[in-house]
Amino acid sequence: MKTIPYKTYLSEDEMPRAYYNLRADLEKDHSPLLHPITREPATLTDLEAIFSSELAAQELNNTDRYLPIPQEVLNFYRMYRPSPLVRAYYLEKELQTPAEIYYKYEGGNTSGSHKLNSAIAQAYYAKEQGLTGITTETGAGQWGTALAMACSYFDLKLKVYMVRCSVEQKPHRKVLMETYGATVIPSPSHTTEAGQSFLERDPDSPGSLGMAIAEALEVAAADPDYRYTLGSVLNQVLLHQSIVGLETKAALDNLQKEADILIGCAGGGSNLGGLIGCFIGDKIQGKKAPRIIAVEPASCPTLTRGKFAYDYCDSARKTPLAKMYTLGASFVPPAGHAGGLRFHGMSPIISQLYHDGLIEEARNYGQKDIFAAAVFFARCEGTLPAPESAHAIRAAIDEALKCKAKREKKIIVFGLTGNGYFDLAAYDAFNKNLLENNSLGDATLAQALKELANLHQ
Ligand SMILES: *Cc1c(COP(=O)(O)O)cnc(C)c1O
Repeated sequence: MKTIPYKTYLSEDEMPRAYYNLRADLEKDHSPLLHPITREPATLTDLEAIFSSELAAQELNNTDRYLPIPQEVLNFYRMYRPSPLVRAYYLEKELQTPAEIYYKYEGGNTSGSHKLNSAIAQAYYAKEQGLTGITTETGAGQWGTALAMACSYFDLKLKVYMVRCSVEQKPHRKVLMETYGATVIPSPSHTTEAGQSFLERDPDSPGSLGMAIAEALEVAAADPDYRYTLGSVLNQVLLHQSIVGLETKAALDNLQKEADILIGCAGGGSNLGGLIGCFIGDKIQGKKAPRIIAVEPASCPTLTRGKFAYDYCDSARKTPLAKMYTLGASFVPPAGHAGGLRFHGMSPIISQLYHDGLIEEARNYGQKDIFAAAVFFARCEGTLPAPESAHAIRAAIDEALKCKAKREKKIIVFGLTGNGYFDLAAYDAFNKNLLENNSLGDATLAQALKELANLHQ
Protein backbone atom coordinates (compact mmCIF):
# COMPACT_ATOMS: atom_id res chain seq x y z
CA MET A 1 0.00 0.00 0.00
CA LYS A 2 1.38 3.41 -0.83
CA THR A 3 1.73 5.99 1.91
CA ILE A 4 -0.18 9.21 1.36
CA PRO A 5 1.50 12.35 2.70
CA TYR A 6 -0.70 13.91 5.34
CA LYS A 7 -2.11 17.32 4.37
CA THR A 8 -1.06 17.24 0.74
CA TYR A 9 -2.42 13.75 0.13
CA LEU A 10 -0.16 13.86 -2.89
CA SER A 11 3.51 12.99 -3.24
CA GLU A 12 5.96 15.14 -5.18
CA ASP A 13 6.16 12.42 -7.84
CA GLU A 14 2.43 12.71 -8.43
CA MET A 15 2.54 16.44 -9.17
CA PRO A 16 1.02 17.35 -12.56
CA ARG A 17 3.61 17.69 -15.35
CA ALA A 18 1.28 19.39 -17.83
CA TYR A 19 -1.29 22.15 -17.69
CA TYR A 20 -4.84 21.13 -18.60
CA ASN A 21 -6.48 23.21 -21.33
CA LEU A 22 -10.20 22.85 -20.73
CA ARG A 23 -11.03 24.62 -23.98
CA ALA A 24 -9.90 21.58 -25.98
CA ASP A 25 -12.74 19.59 -24.39
CA LEU A 26 -15.49 22.22 -24.48
CA GLU A 27 -18.26 21.75 -27.02
CA LYS A 28 -18.61 25.48 -27.21
CA ASP A 29 -15.57 27.75 -26.84
CA HIS A 30 -16.05 31.31 -25.68
CA SER A 31 -16.43 34.12 -28.24
CA PRO A 32 -13.04 35.48 -29.40
CA LEU A 33 -11.27 38.56 -28.10
CA LEU A 34 -11.84 41.49 -30.47
CA HIS A 35 -9.33 44.15 -31.51
CA PRO A 36 -10.41 47.38 -29.73
CA ILE A 37 -10.43 49.47 -32.93
CA THR A 38 -11.17 47.14 -35.86
CA ARG A 39 -13.47 44.88 -33.79
CA GLU A 40 -12.07 41.90 -35.70
CA PRO A 41 -11.02 38.77 -33.75
CA ALA A 42 -7.60 39.38 -32.22
CA THR A 43 -4.85 37.55 -34.14
CA LEU A 44 -1.63 35.99 -32.91
CA THR A 45 0.24 39.03 -34.31
CA ASP A 46 -2.04 41.42 -32.39
CA LEU A 47 -1.43 39.51 -29.16
CA GLU A 48 2.33 39.10 -29.69
CA ALA A 49 2.63 42.88 -29.65
CA ILE A 50 1.32 42.84 -26.07
CA PHE A 51 2.37 39.47 -24.58
CA SER A 52 5.38 37.20 -25.02
CA SER A 53 4.94 34.88 -28.02
CA GLU A 54 4.28 31.65 -26.14
CA LEU A 55 1.67 33.34 -23.95
CA ALA A 56 0.01 34.87 -27.02
CA ALA A 57 -0.18 31.37 -28.54
CA GLN A 58 -1.61 29.93 -25.31
CA GLU A 59 -4.25 32.63 -25.29
CA LEU A 60 -5.59 31.39 -28.63
CA ASN A 61 -5.01 27.66 -28.14
CA ASN A 62 -8.27 25.71 -27.99
CA THR A 63 -7.00 22.45 -29.46
CA ASP A 64 -4.20 21.04 -27.26
CA ARG A 65 -5.70 19.31 -24.21
CA TYR A 66 -2.40 19.24 -22.28
CA LEU A 67 0.58 21.60 -22.46
CA PRO A 68 3.79 20.35 -20.81
CA ILE A 69 4.98 22.47 -17.88
CA PRO A 70 8.59 23.54 -18.64
CA GLN A 71 11.18 21.82 -16.41
CA GLU A 72 12.43 25.17 -14.98
CA VAL A 73 8.87 26.03 -13.92
CA LEU A 74 8.40 22.56 -12.39
CA ASN A 75 11.61 23.10 -10.39
CA PHE A 76 10.19 26.34 -9.01
CA TYR A 77 6.81 24.72 -8.22
CA ARG A 78 8.68 22.13 -6.12
CA MET A 79 9.65 24.91 -3.69
CA TYR A 80 6.01 25.25 -2.59
CA ARG A 81 3.96 22.54 -4.27
CA PRO A 82 2.06 20.32 -4.05
CA SER A 83 0.03 22.74 -1.97
CA PRO A 84 -1.87 21.33 1.02
CA LEU A 85 -5.34 19.86 0.72
CA VAL A 86 -6.57 20.13 4.27
CA ARG A 87 -9.52 18.33 5.84
CA ALA A 88 -11.21 20.99 7.97
CA TYR A 89 -11.91 18.67 10.91
CA TYR A 90 -12.19 21.47 13.47
CA LEU A 91 -14.56 23.49 11.31
CA GLU A 92 -16.73 20.40 10.73
CA LYS A 93 -16.80 19.76 14.46
CA GLU A 94 -17.66 23.35 15.31
CA LEU A 95 -20.51 23.34 12.75
CA GLN A 96 -21.65 19.85 13.86
CA THR A 97 -22.15 18.98 10.22
CA PRO A 98 -22.14 15.46 8.77
CA ALA A 99 -20.46 16.94 5.65
CA GLU A 100 -16.75 16.53 5.01
CA ILE A 101 -15.03 19.83 4.26
CA TYR A 102 -11.67 20.14 2.49
CA TYR A 103 -9.75 23.21 1.38
CA LYS A 104 -6.91 23.56 -1.10
CA TYR A 105 -4.57 26.10 0.49
CA GLU A 106 -2.62 28.35 -1.89
CA GLY A 107 -1.50 30.94 0.69
CA GLY A 108 1.57 29.11 1.96
CA ASN A 109 4.15 30.72 -0.32
CA THR A 110 5.79 34.08 0.48
CA SER A 111 3.74 36.01 -2.12
CA GLY A 112 0.73 34.76 -0.16
CA SER A 113 -1.61 33.60 -2.93
CA HIS A 114 -2.25 31.33 -5.92
CA LYS A 115 -1.05 34.10 -8.25
CA LEU A 116 2.52 32.76 -8.06
CA ASN A 117 1.42 29.71 -10.12
CA SER A 118 0.92 31.88 -13.19
CA ALA A 119 3.57 34.51 -12.39
CA ILE A 120 6.40 31.98 -12.60
CA ALA A 121 5.15 30.60 -15.93
CA GLN A 122 4.75 34.09 -17.40
CA ALA A 123 8.24 35.12 -16.29
CA TYR A 124 9.71 31.91 -17.74
CA TYR A 125 8.22 32.41 -21.20
CA ALA A 126 9.42 36.04 -21.25
CA LYS A 127 12.94 34.93 -20.33
CA GLU A 128 12.89 32.14 -22.92
CA GLN A 129 12.09 34.70 -25.60
CA GLY A 130 15.10 36.77 -24.56
CA LEU A 131 13.11 39.73 -23.28
CA THR A 132 14.83 41.93 -20.70
CA GLY A 133 11.78 42.74 -18.68
CA ILE A 134 8.03 42.90 -18.22
CA THR A 135 5.51 45.41 -16.96
CA THR A 136 2.28 44.99 -15.07
CA GLU A 137 -0.21 46.79 -12.87
CA THR A 138 -1.28 45.82 -9.40
CA GLY A 139 -4.15 46.96 -7.23
CA ALA A 140 -4.20 45.14 -3.92
CA GLY A 141 -0.62 44.00 -4.51
CA GLN A 142 -0.79 40.19 -4.58
CA TRP A 143 -0.12 39.93 -8.31
CA GLY A 144 2.76 42.40 -8.20
CA THR A 145 4.36 40.51 -5.31
CA ALA A 146 4.03 37.14 -7.06
CA LEU A 147 5.52 38.54 -10.26
CA ALA A 148 8.37 40.20 -8.35
CA MET A 149 9.33 36.80 -6.87
CA ALA A 150 9.07 35.15 -10.29
CA CYS A 151 11.14 37.82 -12.06
CA SER A 152 13.89 37.70 -9.47
CA TYR A 153 14.11 33.90 -9.95
CA PHE A 154 14.62 34.30 -13.71
CA ASP A 155 16.64 37.53 -13.45
CA LEU A 156 14.14 39.66 -15.37
CA LYS A 157 13.42 43.35 -14.83
CA LEU A 158 9.94 44.20 -13.58
CA LYS A 159 8.09 47.51 -13.57
CA VAL A 160 4.92 47.49 -11.50
CA TYR A 161 2.40 50.31 -11.82
CA MET A 162 0.63 50.25 -8.48
CA VAL A 163 -2.60 52.16 -7.91
CA ARG A 164 -1.55 55.20 -5.85
CA CYS A 165 -4.14 54.81 -3.10
CA SER A 166 -3.09 51.15 -2.66
CA VAL A 167 0.54 52.22 -2.25
CA GLU A 168 -0.63 54.47 0.56
CA GLN A 169 -2.95 51.86 2.12
CA LYS A 170 -0.55 48.92 1.81
CA PRO A 171 3.01 50.34 1.95
CA HIS A 172 4.42 46.97 2.99
CA ARG A 173 3.33 45.37 -0.27
CA LYS A 174 5.56 47.89 -2.07
CA VAL A 175 8.48 47.10 0.23
CA LEU A 176 8.06 43.38 -0.44
CA MET A 177 8.07 43.86 -4.23
CA GLU A 178 11.15 46.09 -3.99
CA THR A 179 12.88 43.52 -1.81
CA TYR A 180 12.51 41.05 -4.69
CA GLY A 181 14.03 43.67 -7.02
CA ALA A 182 10.96 45.15 -8.74
CA THR A 183 10.54 48.84 -9.55
CA VAL A 184 7.22 50.01 -8.11
CA ILE A 185 5.74 53.20 -9.57
CA PRO A 186 2.66 54.73 -7.96
CA SER A 187 0.08 55.33 -10.71
CA PRO A 188 -0.82 57.76 -12.20
CA SER A 189 2.80 58.81 -12.72
CA HIS A 190 4.89 61.19 -14.80
CA THR A 191 6.74 58.27 -16.43
CA THR A 192 4.15 57.82 -19.20
CA GLU A 193 2.04 60.01 -21.50
CA ALA A 194 -1.11 58.34 -20.21
CA GLY A 195 -0.08 59.02 -16.61
CA GLN A 196 0.71 62.65 -17.39
CA SER A 197 -2.69 63.17 -18.98
CA PHE A 198 -4.43 61.63 -15.94
CA LEU A 199 -2.39 63.94 -13.68
CA GLU A 200 -3.19 67.02 -15.78
CA ARG A 201 -6.87 66.29 -15.25
CA ASP A 202 -6.42 65.60 -11.53
CA PRO A 203 -3.03 66.17 -9.90
CA ASP A 204 -4.27 64.41 -6.73
CA SER A 205 -5.78 61.41 -8.52
CA PRO A 206 -5.93 58.34 -6.23
CA GLY A 207 -5.43 56.21 -9.35
CA SER A 208 -7.35 53.17 -10.56
CA LEU A 209 -6.59 49.79 -12.10
CA GLY A 210 -7.65 51.18 -15.49
CA MET A 211 -5.06 53.97 -15.28
CA ALA A 212 -2.33 51.61 -14.10
CA ILE A 213 -3.08 49.21 -16.99
CA ALA A 214 -2.82 52.10 -19.46
CA GLU A 215 0.61 53.04 -18.07
CA ALA A 216 1.96 49.47 -17.96
CA LEU A 217 0.78 48.86 -21.56
CA GLU A 218 2.36 52.09 -22.81
CA VAL A 219 5.77 51.26 -21.31
CA ALA A 220 5.71 47.72 -22.70
CA ALA A 221 4.65 48.91 -26.17
CA ALA A 222 7.46 51.49 -26.32
CA ASP A 223 10.27 48.96 -25.73
CA PRO A 224 10.74 45.93 -28.04
CA ASP A 225 12.46 44.04 -25.19
CA TYR A 226 9.51 44.38 -22.82
CA ARG A 227 6.04 42.85 -22.75
CA TYR A 228 2.97 43.35 -20.60
CA THR A 229 1.53 40.72 -18.22
CA LEU A 230 -1.80 40.20 -16.46
CA GLY A 231 -2.55 38.08 -13.39
CA SER A 232 -6.13 36.98 -14.00
CA VAL A 233 -9.02 36.94 -16.53
CA LEU A 234 -6.95 35.68 -19.51
CA ASN A 235 -7.11 32.10 -20.84
CA GLN A 236 -3.33 31.70 -20.33
CA VAL A 237 -3.73 32.47 -16.61
CA LEU A 238 -6.53 29.92 -16.14
CA LEU A 239 -4.36 27.42 -18.01
CA HIS A 240 -1.47 27.86 -15.53
CA GLN A 241 -3.86 27.73 -12.57
CA SER A 242 -5.18 24.36 -13.80
CA ILE A 243 -2.49 22.73 -11.63
CA VAL A 244 -4.61 23.65 -8.60
CA GLY A 245 -7.52 21.52 -9.81
CA LEU A 246 -5.29 18.70 -11.08
CA GLU A 247 -3.57 18.42 -7.70
CA THR A 248 -6.91 18.58 -5.88
CA LYS A 249 -8.37 15.81 -8.01
CA ALA A 250 -5.28 13.60 -7.68
CA ALA A 251 -5.28 14.06 -3.90
CA LEU A 252 -8.99 13.23 -3.65
CA ASP A 253 -8.36 10.15 -5.80
CA ASN A 254 -5.65 9.08 -3.34
CA LEU A 255 -8.16 9.49 -0.54
CA GLN A 256 -10.80 7.66 -2.61
CA LYS A 257 -13.14 10.60 -2.20
CA GLU A 258 -15.31 12.38 -4.77
CA ALA A 259 -16.28 16.01 -4.32
CA ASP A 260 -20.02 16.75 -4.37
CA ILE A 261 -19.63 20.52 -4.19
CA LEU A 262 -16.73 22.65 -5.40
CA ILE A 263 -16.52 26.30 -4.32
CA GLY A 264 -14.25 29.15 -5.37
CA CYS A 265 -14.22 32.92 -5.03
CA ALA A 266 -14.39 34.82 -8.30
CA GLY A 267 -12.62 38.10 -9.06
CA GLY A 268 -11.24 37.77 -12.58
CA GLY A 269 -11.90 34.04 -12.43
CA SER A 270 -8.39 32.54 -12.41
CA ASN A 271 -8.38 30.57 -9.17
CA LEU A 272 -11.92 29.34 -9.79
CA GLY A 273 -11.08 28.36 -13.37
CA GLY A 274 -7.95 26.57 -12.17
CA LEU A 275 -9.74 24.70 -9.41
CA ILE A 276 -12.70 23.52 -11.48
CA GLY A 277 -11.00 22.94 -14.88
CA CYS A 278 -10.44 19.18 -14.80
CA PHE A 279 -13.70 18.58 -12.91
CA ILE A 280 -15.59 20.35 -15.71
CA GLY A 281 -13.68 18.07 -18.09
CA ASP A 282 -15.24 15.10 -16.26
CA LYS A 283 -18.66 16.72 -16.41
CA ILE A 284 -18.41 17.12 -20.19
CA GLN A 285 -17.48 13.45 -20.56
CA GLY A 286 -20.58 12.47 -18.60
CA LYS A 287 -18.65 11.27 -15.52
CA LYS A 288 -19.77 12.04 -11.98
CA ALA A 289 -18.73 15.61 -11.25
CA PRO A 290 -19.36 18.14 -8.49
CA ARG A 291 -21.85 20.97 -8.43
CA ILE A 292 -19.88 24.22 -8.76
CA ILE A 293 -20.50 27.47 -6.89
CA ALA A 294 -18.78 30.78 -7.76
CA VAL A 295 -18.76 33.38 -4.98
CA GLU A 296 -18.32 37.13 -5.37
CA PRO A 297 -18.68 40.28 -3.24
CA ALA A 298 -22.07 42.01 -3.08
CA SER A 299 -20.22 45.24 -3.93
CA CYS A 300 -18.88 43.84 -7.25
CA PRO A 301 -21.47 41.24 -8.35
CA THR A 302 -20.28 40.51 -11.88
CA LEU A 303 -21.84 37.07 -12.47
CA THR A 304 -24.86 37.57 -10.26
CA ARG A 305 -25.95 41.01 -11.52
CA GLY A 306 -23.84 41.84 -14.59
CA LYS A 307 -24.59 41.42 -18.31
CA PHE A 308 -23.08 38.82 -20.66
CA ALA A 309 -21.73 41.08 -23.42
CA TYR A 310 -18.61 42.31 -25.19
CA ASP A 311 -16.76 44.90 -23.12
CA TYR A 312 -13.30 46.36 -22.60
CA CYS A 313 -11.13 44.78 -19.91
CA ASP A 314 -9.97 48.18 -18.61
CA SER A 315 -11.53 51.55 -17.93
CA ALA A 316 -9.01 53.26 -20.23
CA ARG A 317 -10.55 51.19 -23.09
CA LYS A 318 -7.21 50.22 -24.60
CA THR A 319 -7.39 46.45 -24.22
CA PRO A 320 -9.13 44.01 -26.58
CA LEU A 321 -12.87 43.49 -26.08
CA ALA A 322 -13.91 40.28 -24.36
CA LYS A 323 -17.34 38.60 -24.29
CA MET A 324 -17.90 38.21 -20.57
CA TYR A 325 -20.14 38.96 -17.65
CA THR A 326 -19.48 42.62 -16.91
CA LEU A 327 -20.74 45.51 -14.85
CA GLY A 328 -19.42 47.90 -17.52
CA ALA A 329 -15.84 49.09 -18.02
CA SER A 330 -16.71 52.44 -16.41
CA PHE A 331 -17.81 50.69 -13.21
CA VAL A 332 -15.74 51.61 -10.18
CA PRO A 333 -16.55 49.29 -7.28
CA PRO A 334 -17.14 50.98 -3.94
CA ALA A 335 -14.13 50.83 -1.64
CA GLY A 336 -14.27 47.33 -0.21
CA HIS A 337 -11.56 45.30 1.40
CA ALA A 338 -11.62 42.33 -0.97
CA GLY A 339 -9.21 44.14 -3.31
CA GLY A 340 -8.60 41.13 -5.52
CA LEU A 341 -12.29 40.69 -6.32
CA ARG A 342 -12.97 44.24 -7.46
CA PHE A 343 -12.78 43.76 -11.23
CA HIS A 344 -15.74 44.86 -13.40
CA GLY A 345 -15.46 41.86 -15.75
CA MET A 346 -14.89 38.11 -15.59
CA SER A 347 -12.78 35.54 -17.43
CA PRO A 348 -14.44 34.72 -20.79
CA ILE A 349 -14.06 30.99 -20.02
CA ILE A 350 -15.81 31.29 -16.65
CA SER A 351 -18.46 33.53 -18.21
CA GLN A 352 -19.24 30.99 -20.94
CA LEU A 353 -19.29 28.07 -18.46
CA TYR A 354 -21.74 29.94 -16.26
CA HIS A 355 -23.87 30.97 -19.23
CA ASP A 356 -24.01 27.32 -20.40
CA GLY A 357 -24.85 25.96 -16.94
CA LEU A 358 -21.57 24.04 -16.45
CA ILE A 359 -21.04 26.29 -13.43
CA GLU A 360 -24.38 25.74 -11.74
CA GLU A 361 -24.49 28.63 -9.33
CA ALA A 362 -23.09 32.08 -8.56
CA ARG A 363 -23.87 33.93 -5.35
CA ASN A 364 -22.65 37.05 -3.57
CA TYR A 365 -22.10 38.03 0.06
CA GLY A 366 -21.61 41.33 1.91
CA GLN A 367 -18.20 42.00 3.42
CA LYS A 368 -19.38 41.89 7.01
CA ASP A 369 -20.71 38.37 6.43
CA ILE A 370 -17.50 37.20 4.81
CA PHE A 371 -15.31 38.62 7.58
CA ALA A 372 -17.49 36.89 10.17
CA ALA A 373 -16.81 33.63 8.30
CA ALA A 374 -13.08 34.46 8.05
CA VAL A 375 -12.75 35.02 11.80
CA PHE A 376 -14.79 31.91 12.61
CA PHE A 377 -12.58 29.89 10.26
CA ALA A 378 -9.33 31.35 11.66
CA ARG A 379 -10.40 30.46 15.19
CA CYS A 380 -11.22 26.84 14.35
CA GLU A 381 -8.65 26.00 11.68
CA GLY A 382 -5.77 28.30 12.63
CA THR A 383 -5.14 29.69 9.16
CA LEU A 384 -5.82 33.41 8.64
CA PRO A 385 -7.57 33.70 5.28
CA ALA A 386 -7.35 36.52 2.73
CA PRO A 387 -10.65 38.43 2.52
CA GLU A 388 -11.08 37.21 -1.08
CA SER A 389 -10.81 33.59 0.07
CA ALA A 390 -13.30 34.27 2.87
CA HIS A 391 -16.04 34.45 0.22
CA ALA A 392 -15.49 30.77 -0.53
CA ILE A 393 -15.35 29.98 3.21
CA ARG A 394 -18.72 31.67 3.74
CA ALA A 395 -20.31 29.57 1.00
CA ALA A 396 -18.68 26.36 2.29
CA ILE A 397 -20.04 27.02 5.78
CA ASP A 398 -23.53 27.70 4.40
CA GLU A 399 -23.44 24.48 2.37
CA ALA A 400 -22.21 22.50 5.40
CA LEU A 401 -25.09 23.91 7.45
CA LYS A 402 -27.55 22.84 4.74
CA CYS A 403 -26.08 19.32 4.99
CA LYS A 404 -26.63 19.48 8.74
CA ALA A 405 -30.30 20.43 8.33
CA LYS A 406 -30.87 17.69 5.74
CA ARG A 407 -28.57 15.13 7.41
CA GLU A 408 -26.56 14.78 4.22
CA LYS A 409 -22.97 13.51 4.20
CA LYS A 410 -21.69 15.52 1.24
CA ILE A 411 -18.07 16.25 0.40
CA ILE A 412 -17.42 19.97 0.09
CA VAL A 413 -14.14 21.25 -1.37
CA PHE A 414 -13.21 24.91 -1.59
CA GLY A 415 -10.24 27.00 -2.70
CA LEU A 416 -8.46 28.93 0.05
CA THR A 417 -6.59 31.22 -2.31
CA GLY A 418 -4.42 33.25 0.06
CA ASN A 419 -3.46 34.31 3.53
CA GLY A 420 -4.61 37.51 5.21
CA TYR A 421 -1.39 38.91 6.70
CA PHE A 422 -1.53 42.06 4.57
CA ASP A 423 -5.22 42.60 5.31
CA LEU A 424 -5.00 43.25 9.02
CA ALA A 425 -6.38 46.79 8.62
CA ALA A 426 -9.56 45.21 7.27
CA TYR A 427 -9.64 42.66 10.10
CA ASP A 428 -9.16 45.55 12.52
CA ALA A 429 -12.15 47.36 11.01
CA PHE A 430 -14.25 44.20 11.34
CA ASN A 431 -13.14 43.63 14.93
CA LYS A 432 -14.15 47.20 15.76
CA ASN A 433 -17.53 46.63 14.13
CA LEU A 434 -16.88 49.27 11.48
CA LEU A 435 -17.71 47.14 8.42
CA GLU A 436 -21.09 47.16 6.72
CA ASN A 437 -22.63 44.81 4.19
CA ASN A 438 -22.56 47.46 1.49
CA SER A 439 -24.21 46.02 -1.60
CA LEU A 440 -24.20 47.73 -4.96
CA GLY A 441 -27.07 50.23 -5.42
CA ASP A 442 -29.49 49.67 -8.32
CA ALA A 443 -28.93 53.22 -9.62
CA THR A 444 -25.12 52.86 -9.73
CA LEU A 445 -25.42 49.52 -11.50
CA ALA A 446 -27.96 50.87 -14.00
CA GLN A 447 -25.65 53.79 -14.86
CA ALA A 448 -22.64 51.53 -15.52
CA LEU A 449 -24.75 49.14 -17.62
CA LYS A 450 -26.18 52.05 -19.61
CA GLU A 451 -22.67 52.98 -20.72
CA LEU A 452 -22.15 49.35 -21.69
CA ALA A 453 -25.33 49.48 -23.78
CA ASN A 454 -24.02 52.61 -25.57
CA LEU A 455 -20.95 50.65 -26.60
CA HIS A 456 -23.20 48.23 -28.47
CA GLN A 457 -25.05 50.82 -30.53
C1 LIG B 1 -6.29 37.95 -6.83
C2 LIG B 1 -6.88 37.10 -5.80
C3 LIG B 1 -8.16 36.51 -5.94
C4 LIG B 1 -9.06 36.76 -7.10
O1 LIG B 1 -8.53 36.56 -8.36
P1 LIG B 1 -9.07 35.42 -9.32
O2 LIG B 1 -8.37 35.69 -10.60
O3 LIG B 1 -10.55 35.55 -9.43
O4 LIG B 1 -8.66 34.14 -8.73
C5 LIG B 1 -8.62 35.68 -4.94
N1 LIG B 1 -7.89 35.44 -3.84
C6 LIG B 1 -6.67 35.98 -3.66
C7 LIG B 1 -5.93 35.68 -2.40
C8 LIG B 1 -6.12 36.83 -4.63
O5 LIG B 1 -4.90 37.36 -4.46
